[in-house]
Amino acid sequence: AALVASSIGALSEVMGDTQRAAGAAERLLELLAAKSPVQSASHPAALPPRTAQGAALILDDVAFHYPSRPDTLSLTHFSLSINPGETIAIVGPSGAGKTTLFQLLMRFYDPQQGTIKLDGVDIKSLSLHTLRNAIGIVPQDTVIFSANAMDNIRYGRVGASDDEVIAAAKMAAADEFIQRLPNGYQSFLGERGVRLSGGQRQRIAIARALLKNPPLLLLDEATSALDAESERVVQGALEAAMVGRTTLVIAHRLATVQRADRIIVLEHGHIVETGTHASLVAQGGLYASLAALQFNTDSQPSIR
Ligand code: ADP
Ligand code: MG
Repeated sequence: AALVASSIGALSEVMGDTQRAAGAAERLLELLAAKSPVQSASHPAALPPRTAQGAALILDDVAFHYPSRPDTLSLTHFSLSINPGETIAIVGPSGAGKTTLFQLLMRFYDPQQGTIKLDGVDIKSLSLHTLRNAIGIVPQDTVIFSANAMDNIRYGRVGASDDEVIAAAKMAAADEFIQRLPNGYQSFLGERGVRLSGGQRQRIAIARALLKNPPLLLLDEATSALDAESERVVQGALEAAMVGRTTLVIAHRLATVQRADRIIVLEHGHIVETGTHASLVAQGGLYASLAALQFNTDSQPSIR
């Protein structure tokens, strides 16, 4: 805090223009706030060579609270072992810890207790670059940049050739709608360009992930309703994206959950049920009631 105060003070002095200094100080504070609270390993370990199936992931007795809320455990006694190539669906009511799990896997935060291992290596001993390079994320809401369609997808792996971008777009079922834009792949997207539908934005995100080709894929399925046609196309694209990698999907659609190898039901930061769709429905617990509500948990905060 002292560093922030003195930096702001120095800025105001140097700039001599209070108005501009205030703006700069605000941006500095934003930068500091956005700065990750984790440290990249100083002598980083390497990951073992990648296997054809994807990454193995082991979480061992993880406990985590956000720094701002020391009295609320967002994950607790969380243990899970995921085999290479598995597809795990994560379901649970709003606030259960689903997004937090992804944040820890990406090391936006470190757990206060327990370990997370990727292919047998504690993720804290990897460089942040190595870790995040091994993980692809398809978020609920995809950010589309003010750039053309080609570069928007290329963001998945800067340096990819146009042909590689187009191949990824084809696999993600994005090629067809991009071809139909006024200037095809050169069409400018974003706020001042072509506005894409929710399903189209998701397919851009999937294309980015495919271009990156990570051994571990984290999907946060959109809760917003897609029309039946888009839903079918997006579902197909997601399935293409899961081939040859380990996938964790925060699932809001029955089709996704039913296709998973294993379903993990989260509540209050820990796993309360695990199994297949059929076994969990038969169990008649939290999963069964979530399934009855179509997993639309983020818009149905109070279950039970
Ligand atoms: P889900 O994705 O399952 O809806 P989250 O992982 O977002 O749940 O949240 C789990 C718990 O952590 C909730 O109690 C939530 O209020 C809390 N939480 C989530 N994000 C933050 C944050 N940035 N700071 C403090 N608490 C948070
Ligand atoms: Mg969430």
